[in-house]
Amino acid sequence: MTVRAVIFRLATPGSLADTARMTTAILKRGRDHTITRRHPWIFSGGVDRLEGEAPAVGDTVIVQDADGQPLGLGAWSPASQIRIRMWTFDAAQPVDAAFFEARLAAALAVRAALPEAWRNTDALRLVNAEADGLPGLVVDRYGDFLVCSFAAAGVDRWKAEIVAALGKLHPCAGIYERSDLDVREHEGLPPVTSVLAGAEPPPLVEIHENGCRYGVDVHQGHKTGFYLDQRDNRAVVAACATGRCVLNAFAYTGGFGIAALKAGATSVTHVDLSAPSLALAKENTTRNGLDAATSEFIEGNVFEVLRKFRDARRAFDLVVLDPPKFVESKGHLMAACRGYKDINLLALKLLRPGGILATFSCSGLLGPDLFQKIVGEAALDARRNVQILRRLAQAPDHVESLAFPEGLYLKGLLVRAE
Ligand code: SAH
Repeated sequence: MTVRAVIFRLATPGSLADTARMTTAILKRGRDHTITRRHPWIFSGGVDRLEGEAPAVGDTVIVQDADGQPLGLGAWSPASQIRIRMWTFDAAQPVDAAFFEARLAAALAVRAALPEAWRNTDALRLVNAEADGLPGLVVDRYGDFLVCSFAAAGVDRWKAEIVAALGKLHPCAGIYERSDLDVREHEGLPPVTSVLAGAEPPPLVEIHENGCRYGVDVHQGHKTGFYLDQRDNRAVVAACATGRCVLNAFAYTGGFGIAALKAGATSVTHVDLSAPSLALAKENTTRNGLDAATSEFIEGNVFEVLRKFRDARRAFDLVVLDPPKFVESKGHLMAACRGYKDINLLALKLLRPGGILATFSCSGLLGPDLFQKIVGEAALDARRNVQILRRLAQAPDHVESLAFPEGLYLKGLLVRAE
C-alpha cells in the first residue's frame, strides 16, 4: 500500500514509560461500579478531582477509585459528558502505538474468524468502537478502501498511530476519514473528512454483498456510506421476496429493495425523502442488471406516502420499514413510540393477507421489548393477526460487548400478517 504519511502532530502522546507524568482522575466514592464491571464510560459527575497537570484533550489519564486504587487508563474528554473512555482496566498496560496496533489486530482477527457464510461481502465493519476496546473508533471496509470515523477525543488524539497500524495490518488502496458526525461536537472536535492514507476513494466505491452490487458514496453518504449493519437483514428480506410486490420504505440507496428484486420480487416501490439517495438507488438498480420498469422511486415523506397508499387502496406482499433513529434522547421516547406505531400501523394496513413486514428501529434508547409492544399495538389497531417469524439484529461484524449494552441499537421483527 502506498501510504501517504500524514503527520498529525509533532509530539507523540506520552507512552506509559512516563506514567509518572500522567494525570490521575480520582472517582467519587461509589462511582467505580461501572468500571469494575468493565463498562468503558465514566461520566463527568463520576470524577471527583484530578491530580497532576491538567490533561489536554484526548490525553491518557490514570483512573483511581476514591481509595486510590488504580482502575485502569482512559482518554480524557473535557468537553463531553462522557468525561473518560477507558482504554484498559489494567493501569500497568502501556497505551502507545503498539497498544493500538494490538487492539486493531484483535478486531481484524474477530472478523477473519467469522464463519465464511457470514461474510459473503467485501464491505464490513472491521472495528466497532467500544465493543472492540477502541471507544469512538469505527473502521468500515468498502472493497479496497477503509473508511474511518473518529468520534471521541481519545481516538482522535491517536489518529496517526491508528492509521499507520491499519495500513500495516490491512493493506488497502486508501484510508478515508468520515469524522463529520454530530457527536464530535459533544467532544469539542470539529467535523473532518479527508484522505488519511493512500488514494482518494472514487465518487462511488462498488461493493458486493450477498450477490448484489451497490455503489457506495463514502464521501457524502450516511454514516461511512452504507448501512452495513443491515446486511443479514437484507438477506432475510431477499429470502422472503420471491414473487412478492415489495414496498421499501426509508429506502436510502435501495439496499433492501434491490436485494429483494434480485431474489425474484415482482416489483419494488422505494420511498425516501432524499432525492440523491433515490438517484443512487436507481443507479444501483441498473448496476445489478435489473429491469428498471419493475422499480418505482418515490421522493416523499413515508408518513404521508403510506397514508396516500392506504387511501388509494394500494397493497403490497412485503413491506420493509427501516426508519432513521427517532429517539435522540430520553425526552423523545414517547413521541418516537407514536411515530413507530404510526408507520407500523400503516404498513400493516397495506399488507395483503399472508403479507410480510420487516420492521426495524435503530434507536438505542428503545429496547427490543418496547419495540415489540409497539408493533403489537399497531397490529391490534390494524385488526391484523400477526405472527413473529424472526427477530432481527445487527450483523455479526457489528460485534457487541456484554459489558457495553449501549452497543446494541438495531432491532427488527419479521412478521407475517394473516
Ligand atoms: N434501509 C436503508 C437504510 C435506511 S436509512 C438501507 O438498508 O440502506 C433511513 C432513510 O430514511 C434515509 O435514507 C433518510 O433519507 C430516510 N428518511 C428519513 N426520514 C424520512 C421520512 N420521514 N420519509 C422518508 N424517508 C425518510
